[in-house]
Amino acid sequence: MKALLSILAFVFSIVLAAQNTYLHCGKLIDTESGKVLTEQTIVVSGNKIVSVKKGYHNPDKKEDTVIDLKSKTVMPGLIDMHVHIESETNPKSYLEGYTLNDADIAFNSVQYAEVTLMNGFTTVRDLGGSGVNVSLRNAINAGKVKGPRIFTAEKALATTGGHADPTNGSSRELMGNPGPKEGVVNGVDDAKKAVRQRYKNGADLIKITATGGVLSVAKSGQNPQFTVEEIKAICETAKDYGFHVAAHAHGDEGMQRAILGGVKTIEHGTLMSDETMALMKKHDVYLVPTITAGKFVSDKAKIPGYYPDVVVPKALNIGPKIQEMFGRAYKAGVGIAFGTDAAVFYHGENGKEFGYMVEAGMPAIETIQSATVTNAKILKVEDQLGKLKEGFLADIIAVNDDPTKKISTMENVVFVMKEGVIYKK
Ligand SMILES: [Zn+2]
Repeated sequence: MKALLSILAFVFSIVLAAQNTYLHCGKLIDTESGKVLTEQTIVVSGNKIVSVKKGYHNPDKKEDTVIDLKSKTVMPGLIDMHVHIESETNPKSYLEGYTLNDADIAFNSVQYAEVTLMNGFTTVRDLGGSGVNVSLRNAINAGKVKGPRIFTAEKALATTGGHADPTNGSSRELMGNPGPKEGVVNGVDDAKKAVRQRYKNGADLIKITATGGVLSVAKSGQNPQFTVEEIKAICETAKDYGFHVAAHAHGDEGMQRAILGGVKTIEHGTLMSDETMALMKKHDVYLVPTITAGKFVSDKAKIPGYYPDVVVPKALNIGPKIQEMFGRAYKAGVGIAFGTDAAVFYHGENGKEFGYMVEAGMPAIETIQSATVTNAKILKVEDQLGKLKEGFLADIIAVNDDPTKKISTMENVVFVMKEGVIYKK
């Protein structure tokens, strides 16, 4: 009986493996060459791409399926390097820190994950939440929840009173004295301890808040908040665990310290000077622009009561500056890693960023390369994601128009496949 079962299981696995999906693609974006190819067939078997061929090929086995994307433009699943998958902006955001339990956060995050995937983002880098993000990542990997593949920082690191200090803005009674376990770091020993705690908690990378931020309940949105020594200790310890480090930064001094300390990406980069742009290039550090978030906060800041009073002037001042800085950084040759800061605006609207990048002077094809090959390289998955190529994971999406002619089509993803499974058709 046992032998029979194992033979059946073996036969079944062969049948499964043999079932292929043929995607007929009217246009296909080759993210490696930056060219738009026409009339291509992608063959998917299991979770991988087995071939990409010129022309429309039909299967010879009747159990194989054909998907007609002849009127669409097909490209690899997109990667957003800056989201907060657990939460989303709303007028009660600031209260929720005191009212929501982890279970509430978890149920909410399921919706955010699904809407992100349905809009073509098959991979995200989550830059900090409460720790539910690790469980969400695991649930998605186990197939229990629909969502993008997540690389998470778990909890972002800050200094006392810094942008990601979890008790900022609390009454003295509730403020307490959070330490490295909660991601609050003061000094080199704390820095090492906080990174090691993230490893223990299941993080994939480290996020630091190198300067003040817009949405924290604190006066400055741009002051430097770590010493170079602290950042160095974080980056060196992170290396032991195979983690890279992402640094939130609006102010120039904090950005320079982060680059010299060894981070891989600068998030936002709002007040970046020409000197810092040169430093970015020298140290091979990428800018993650988050233009969409900047525009969203400056709009919402005009609605009385949407943000706390201390946040409003920061949102009005910093928000609108990101796009102009991005244009200069791109022209200066700084490496650009597509990322939006979804959660600061509504999840699923990540595709708006493409239009803003093009508006600031980056060619459409390069924005798509940024969201695929560049981001895959930073995440060290460039041999699995970011290209439609034999042996790569079958993360494949499609839009109605050719984005190199009409970039707004990136806001309307009509087909989504992740690891060979179709989520939207
Ligand atoms: Zn963020």
